[in-house]
Amino acid sequence: MGELRILFIGPAGAGKGTQCAKLSEEFGLEHISTGDLIRAEIKSGSELGQKVQSIVEAGNLVSDDIVNEIVKNKLDRTKRFVLDGYPRTKEQAEFLNSVTNLHYIFSLEVNKENLVERLSGRRLCTGTKKPGCKGMFHIAFNPPKVEGICDLCGSELYQRKDDNPETIEKRINSYESETGKPLKDFYGNGDKGEFISIEADEAPGMVYEAITSKLKAVSK
Ligand SMILES: [Zn+2]
Repeated sequence: MGELRILFIGPAGAGKGTQCAKLSEEFGLEHISTGDLIRAEIKSGSELGQKVQSIVEAGNLVSDDIVNEIVKNKLDRTKRFVLDGYPRTKEQAEFLNSVTNLHYIFSLEVNKENLVERLSGRRLCTGTKKPGCKGMFHIAFNPPKVEGICDLCGSELYQRKDDNPETIEKRINSYESETGKPLKDFYGNGDKGEFISIEADEAPGMVYEAITSKLKAVSK
């Protein structure tokens, strides 16, 4: 299998996680998210991991430099990946560009009303029965079999405090100004990998088809 390096851009609620998971399975890609990487680094007990652990435990944010280092370490060892949730800023994008060449950048576009609807109906697993469970449901689009209960592990579901329409709209706006627009400006001219804008208002299956139709020429 050849090299294949893909980046996904899009706000929370655009369906990045779902699309990346499917894509990574079908195309044999490693699904890389910075949250997972940071947790793995801590768990490894490396020098860097211990440093990160003390930062997180003190309630501080992990700095750009450290996140960049962790990402670089991972990308140096990974030839086929789909990157999700990084970069978050133009500076991180510049760093990423200095350590690897992306083949494709997919930007998921969803209109704001849809995002608000998707995020406000979201219910997450509390993980009481299975710590770390990533069960995620939607009261309208993807309801659990039993109301309020995670299909995957049987724990209760909850709604994030900041998943209310007012806060959601603020989050969408700040995502757009801090991440969305700067990244689209950075990647949009196509000289850092093929930039592909995807209308992601449709059902996940149709969005996935739109994505994979762009990848047809690529061997699995
Ligand atoms: Zn669960």
